Amino acid sequence: MDAVNPATGERIATYEADSQADVEAALARADDAFEAWRERPLREREELLAVAGDVLRENEREYARLMTEEMGKPISQAVSEVEKCAWVCDHYAEHASAYLQPEGHPSPPGADVQTVYEPLGPVLAVMPWNFPFWQVFRFAAPYLTAGNVGLLKHASNVPGCARAIADVFEEAGYPDGVFQTLLVGSDAVDDVLADDRVRAATLTGSGPAGRAVASTAGQELKKTVLELGGSDPFVVLDDADLDEAAETGAWARNLNGGQSCIAAKRFVVHADVYDEFVERFVDEVDSLTVGDPTDEETEVGPQASADLLADLHEQVRASVEAGATVLTGGEPMDREGAFYPPTVLADVPEGCPADSEELFGPVAAVFEVDDEAEAVEKANDTAFGLGASVWTADRERGRRVARDIDAGCTYVNQLVKSDPRVPFGGVGVSGYGRELSEPGIKEFVNRKTLWVE
Ligand code: NDP
Repeated sequence: MDAVNPATGERIATYEADSQADVEAALARADDAFEAWRERPLREREELLAVAGDVLRENEREYARLMTEEMGKPISQAVSEVEKCAWVCDHYAEHASAYLQPEGHPSPPGADVQTVYEPLGPVLAVMPWNFPFWQVFRFAAPYLTAGNVGLLKHASNVPGCARAIADVFEEAGYPDGVFQTLLVGSDAVDDVLADDRVRAATLTGSGPAGRAVASTAGQELKKTVLELGGSDPFVVLDDADLDEAAETGAWARNLNGGQSCIAAKRFVVHADVYDEFVERFVDEVDSLTVGDPTDEETEVGPQASADLLADLHEQVRASVEAGATVLTGGEPMDREGAFYPPTVLADVPEGCPADSEELFGPVAAVFEVDDEAEAVEKANDTAFGLGASVWTADRERGRRVARDIDAGCTYVNQLVKSDPRVPFGGVGVSGYGRELSEPGIKEFVNRKTLWVE
């Protein structure tokens, strides 16, 4: 497996992929490890997780550099990502026991009835490259602490990150087999998932990958959690603070080079403030610093690979051909590496890629609507349903509009973000299940009824 630096196109390293025998050995280790791990007191599992958080903090720069080299994330955002991973470790180290506390039920006389939460076993995690550390810790912190063991199949373009994450758990003192990385391509996933020792799967990535994993898991009757991207609306109402909305909107679209499932993608703007908002928004987008991702000042780095850039540009090209107007950007940058400029499209026709597909890069589509009802209608005019952001000076109005938007996470006067304290996930083709917070740790447990007389 080759790791290629998307800022230069150079190959950084080549990793030997795991053989079938390696995968079999990993499955056997996971199975063995589970028996002992599930018996470890929860308190001890929490303590180990807290150590994993310390390991992340101690090696923050090294892990951040690895992400920047392998997928082009600006270094300052890579450092923040490692810190966020340490935060999710701290969070579950502190709260797992409370989240997994047995729950009592009204019981008949003489009986004591509870739900207790027990781990399922080895969980396969198929993860993407866009937040190569965060996506993994988002599943590993809760699921391991609940007593499951983890098998990571990371995206093929971030093998160094995949290895480094396994090292974090080893360095923290996790027993052998509790967390393992499988360096395999997507063609190996079906067999691993079909193996009897694997009990469940979680996938973050594209719709096709999610459907493939869900269909095998369905065949095998194994539980899945899917987080499959979105086309989040960013709704600007006529009473919004336009400066703040424009500044936050530019960031919400272009953070991580625009390669985020919860990035603001469709800007739905009330006609009374449309011109004013668009002018400020384009100014904000143009002011972002694009360039070398190793530079601390860089805000937008390259796309994660030349192929992904080509796919994105094809979506822009098709949208423009269908009638969209380019307000800024719109062509790959004339420089070494997979750089695409922050771009804004207006007059976006219904049904073109910028309207109906996920644009996984720094390209915003703006839409003008006549009133609040039309704003809600446009926000909901998508098969996705991950996040949404609503901007208004009136909090109650914001609450009402946010309630009317079909999405897993809605924010008023704030960009959509994932936070260990708050459940995260989507509806529609954005997937199902919830990660983080209490629902996150309860996704892969046996909610066992215990009736004692
Ligand atoms: P993929 O969904 O292809 O990759 C994500 C993970 O799924 C990788 O580990 C990949 O492995 C694996 N995978 C891919 N196909 C299958 C399959 N048939 N069965 C099992 N596992 C599979 O994303 P891409 O990197 O190709 O990006 C394409 C698009 O997906 C993006 O443009 C974006 O729209 C969306 N995406 C959404 C993300 C999100 O956060 N929700 C994250 C990444 C992408 P391998 O790398 O070996 O192919």
